[in-house]
Amino acid sequence: MTLNQILEQLKLAGYKATATRTLILETLIKNHELILSADEIYLMVKLENAKINRSTVYRNLEILSEENLLYKTITDQGVTKVKLRCCDKHHHHLICDRCGKIVVFDQCASDLYREFAQGHGFLLTGHTLELHGICKNCQLLERV
Ligand SMILES: [Zn+2]
Ligand SMILES: [Zn+2]
Repeated sequence: MTLNQILEQLKLAGYKATATRTLILETLIKNHELILSADEIYLMVKLENAKINRSTVYRNLEILSEENLLYKTITDQGVTKVKLRCCDKHHHHLICDRCGKIVVFDQCASDLYREFAQGHGFLLTGHTLELHGICKNCQLLERV
């Protein structure tokens, strides 16, 4: 999704394209290959504009979440991290639990899931699958 598409969706929901909101979205778009905690996003936004306060960033993330624009995960350390939702076809994510690096995994064993569910008398209506790990860079850092 482009910045304009997101701003347009927010506008329809009654949220104006304020400078802060735009800056937060630009930060998320620029870092689309990372999944970030609210605090990490706050620190990045603050580098661009030191006057922005934490609660404004948190509130904006809540709005994006309410508008279903965020993909969320919880790391192995229990931290909630978010990224802008990708809007192309069905796919899964491989996530580094240290730095938040994301790799798109566009294969899906949906036939296998459907058969499994059917075997238990279920009509499968959806699934979530997320692969977690530690990326090459983070493995090297941890060895030091
Ligand atoms: Zn990593
Ligand atoms: Zn799938």
